Amino acid sequence: MPIESLIAAARDFLGDRLTTNAALRDHHSHGQDTQPPVLPDAVAFIETTEEACKLMALCHAEHVPVVPWGAGTSLEGHVTPVRGGITLDLSRMNRVLDVSQADMDCRVEAGVTQEQLNAHLRDTGLFFPVDPGTSVCTIGGMSATRASGTNAVRYGTMRENVMGLTVVMPDGRLIRTGGRVRKSASGYDLTRLFVGSEGTLGVITEIQLRLHGIPEAVSSATCQFKTLRDAVETVIAIMQVGIPVARIELLDEVQIAACIAYSKLEGLAELPTLFFEFHGTPAGVAEQASQAEEIALGNDGLGFAWATEPAARHKLWQARHDALWACLALKPGHKGIATDAIVPISLLTEAILGAKEDILASGLTAPIVGHVGDGNFHTVIMVPPEPDGLARAWELDKKIVARALALGGSCSGEHGVGIGKREFLEQEHGADTMTVMRAVKQALDPRGIMNPGKIFLN
Ligand SMILES: Cc1cc2nc3c(=O)[nH]c(=O)nc-3n(C[C@H](O)[C@H](O)[C@H](O)COP(=O)(O)OP(=O)(O)OC[C@H]3O[C@@H](n4cnc5c(N)ncnc54)[C@H](O)[C@@H]3O)c2cc1C
Repeated sequence: MPIESLIAAARDFLGDRLTTNAALRDHHSHGQDTQPPVLPDAVAFIETTEEACKLMALCHAEHVPVVPWGAGTSLEGHVTPVRGGITLDLSRMNRVLDVSQADMDCRVEAGVTQEQLNAHLRDTGLFFPVDPGTSVCTIGGMSATRASGTNAVRYGTMRENVMGLTVVMPDGRLIRTGGRVRKSASGYDLTRLFVGSEGTLGVITEIQLRLHGIPEAVSSATCQFKTLRDAVETVIAIMQVGIPVARIELLDEVQIAACIAYSKLEGLAELPTLFFEFHGTPAGVAEQASQAEEIALGNDGLGFAWATEPAARHKLWQARHDALWACLALKPGHKGIATDAIVPISLLTEAILGAKEDILASGLTAPIVGHVGDGNFHTVIMVPPEPDGLARAWELDKKIVARALALGGSCSGEHGVGIGKREFLEQEHGADTMTVMRAVKQALDPRGIMNPGKIFLN
C-alpha cells in the first residue's frame, strides 16, 4: 500500500487529526538539536490508546516507520523521522487519570507535561520531582529518554520514579508492565526496558508514577569559588559524606556570566558557582546546610548566600533551567550543542577540569553546567556560524565523551542516544552487549518500524 493509501486509511478513524499540513510536518522534522531535519510524510495527533493500537497495526502491516513524539525537546536527534513515515504526536493524550494520596502514586497519559502534573498535584501535598530543564516536556517523552534533572541526586531519575507502563507494541498489541506495588520479583522488568527505549520498542500511552511528599522546609543557597577545582571538590566531599542534598548544580564562570546577564541575577560575581537546595524538616535543613557550608569553606568557598523565600528560590532555579537559552543569548548567531557526560563521582574533578582544557584548546565558547551531585555535567558548545563550525563543535564533544568513557563513565547521563550518541555505544557497552540490545530490538520490532535510525548505528 503506498503511503497515500495508508494516510487515507488512518483518516477513517483519525479524521483531520492525521495531517499532511506543511507547517506541522516541518514542526515535527526535528527536535532541539543540530541534526539535519527530515519531514515526516504525515503527523497523527492521537487522543486514545485505542487509536495508537489501530495506527500501529496499520503501519506494521505496511512496514511504515513511526516516530513517537511528546514535545520535541530532546537534544540528540531523537525525533527526526530519518525514514519519513508517520510521526505519532501524543501531546493531546494529556489527562491525569488518577492520583492516590494514600499510596503516593498517580497514573497519567503520556502527553501530560511535567509542569501540568505538578500544577495538578499542588493541593495534594505531593509532587513529582523529575525536572528536566524544560517544563513543557511530556511524561511519555521523559520516560522514553530516561530523563532526569536537578532533583535526581535526591529523588532519582525516571528509572526510579516510573512504576509501570501501558505500551502499544509495534504490531498494535497492547501490554501493561509493572504496577502499583513498591517492589516486585515477578518476571522480567519490562518497565525498565521501555524506560529509556527512545520510541524504538513501542509507544508508551500511560505511565504509573511514584510521587513524593512536598518537604516541610526548603532552602536554597549559592556559593562561589575562586577556582573550578575547589567547586568540584566541594561537591565530591558533600556526596561522599552523604549529606542528602536535594539539588547541587555547578555553573562555571562562563555559564554564571551568561545566567547573570540573561536572568538578571544579582549579587553574584563571574566565578565558578554551586547552586544548592536542601529539603526536610526545618532542623534537618539547617543541619544539612551547615555541614555543606563547612565543607565549602574548607575548599576556600566564598560563603553561602541564601534564598529562602519562594520567589527568590524560584528566580534562582529558573535561571538554572534557562541556562541553555542564556548561552544562546551570549553568542547571537551561534547554535548550541548540549553535551552530556557522566563519570563516577570520585573522578568528577578529572573529567571537568579535562573538559575545561579541551574547551580552551578548541578556541570555542562552551560554558559548563551540570547536575554534579550525580557526576553528570554538560557543556553548551557554541557553534560558530562558519563553514567548519559544526565540525569543530562535534570534535570537542567527542573529546569530552572520550574522556568520560576512559574514566569508566557514560556518553549520556540523561539526554539519551538518539542519533548524536550512537557512535559511542559500542565503546561504552562492548560488542556482545550491543548484540543483545539488537536482539531485543529485533524480537520486539522485527520490521524495524519504531523510530528507525536511533540508538543503533546500523
Ligand atoms: C532547555 C532544555 C533543557 C533540558 N534539560 C534536560 C535535563 O536537565 N535533563 C534531561 O534529562 N533532559 C533535558 N532536556 C532534554 C529533554 O527535555 C528530555 O529529553 C525530555 O525527556 C524529552 O521529552 P519530550 O516530551 O520533549 O520528548 P520528545 O523530544 O518528543 O521525544 C524524545 C524521545 O522519546 C520518544 N518518545 C516520546 N514520547 C514517547 C512515547 N509516549 N512513547 C514512546 N516513545 C516516546 C521519541 O520518539 C524520542 O525518541 C532538556 C532540553 C531542553 C530543550
